[in-house]
Amino acid sequence: MGGGLAGLAAARELGDLDVLLLESEPRLGGRVRPERFGGIPYELGALSVLASTDLPVEVDHAPVGLFWNGALHLAPTPLAAIVSAIPSAVPRALGPEAGPALEAFFGVTHPCRIDESILERRGDALVRFVVRRTPGGNAAVLARLAEGLRAERRVGARVVRVETRGDSVEVETAGEETLRARSAIVATDGVAAREILRSPSAATGRFLSALRYGSGAVAVLGLRAPVLPRFSYIALPPSESVRAVVRGATAEGVSVVHFYFHVAPDAASLVPAAKETLARISPGAPIDVAFSETKVWPRVGPIVSSGAYGEWNDAILRPSDRIRLAGDYVHFLPYEALPYGQEAALASGRRAAEEIRAILTPSGGTS
Ligand SMILES: Cc1cc2nc3c(=O)[nH]c(=O)nc-3n(C[C@H](O)[C@H](O)[C@H](O)COP(=O)(O)OP(=O)(O)OC[C@H]3O[C@@H](n4cnc5c(N)ncnc54)[C@H](O)[C@@H]3O)c2cc1C
Repeated sequence: MGGGLAGLAAARELGDLDVLLLESEPRLGGRVRPERFGGIPYELGALSVLASTDLPVEVDHAPVGLFWNGALHLAPTPLAAIVSAIPSAVPRALGPEAGPALEAFFGVTHPCRIDESILERRGDALVRFVVRRTPGGNAAVLARLAEGLRAERRVGARVVRVETRGDSVEVETAGEETLRARSAIVATDGVAAREILRSPSAATGRFLSALRYGSGAVAVLGLRAPVLPRFSYIALPPSESVRAVVRGATAEGVSVVHFYFHVAPDAASLVPAAKETLARISPGAPIDVAFSETKVWPRVGPIVSSGAYGEWNDAILRPSDRIRLAGDYVHFLPYEALPYGQEAALASGRRAAEEIRAILTPSGGTS
């Protein structure tokens, strides 16, 4: 259940078995949402591409930026950008004056405040987030993942209930169809998993009840004239409505710039807010927009809070003896910094598939 990266990875791994993939949306990909304007690729969801898809991948080595007190500071790393913007932060070993800057870099990859996250992840604020792209954008990634996917796929099939009944799993869809399977992987986001799972184990139930997601939105501007020097991404202080600005592909003379919002009052205000942010970062530059698009995400990603993740253990992944959870939110390695997100989703899908194979074919064969 769930045709995002986790569900796709799991379905691929189990390709020799009889697999049915159920996805509620009309298309596969979940929070990976590639689009095109003519020949120009852009993303309404995850921007970077996966390193593990063996596609030609470009790593963006352009500087990262910090927009601080009305000025843009570009540097090779978040720490160097902080030091350039706030020289007084350093003698005091990144003292309180650096707090909002750390918060800004943390917000590039986490949809929450830094103090909402577990201690082990707060260091992500200083990790340089690697932006990788393929010329075809994430559409090429999804096409590669779908290659060789033998599972039967049903899109527009929303699951409303899943539970173990004796030696099978019962899955009910919104179309009131009841399906039976020998086992199942719930590869939806955590909120949907909480809604559809009946009688999960106590460990899974506690974790899912404590799990919270951060929301956000994306606005994309295709600009005929590049208005900024080369950059990979720019973090903005948390008081701004835009969390980060990320450069996309440049094609056909149009540069694509993505704006990630942590508050999304309404979709109509996103493009004006994106333009206003651009004008502030690059005052006086002409903003000649070839195209724009927006998407509001009620659930950008999980908040790695101690309430949900503080008592993490692998039992959480097993709501019953025949059901496994997969998704970026259940690939949790407290001391490992980036990558997570897409890589976590894929890794969790592969892991769930291995466990399901062990349940179905205890001797390791196919069935
Ligand atoms: C704006 C944005 C930017 C991001 N940028 C990056 C980035 O640059 N790098 C990075 O690594 N990660 C990034 N991420 C995170 C990344 O997109 C996710 O971590 C990853 O795609 C999650 O995959 P998943 O399979 O776990 O979940 P999802 O992609 O959420 O897939 C779950 C699927 O389950 C389906 N579903 C839900 N409920 C049901 C139901 N009841 N029945 C059937 N199907 C259901 C959903 O429709 C969805 O397709 C970004 C995310 C967003 C939103």
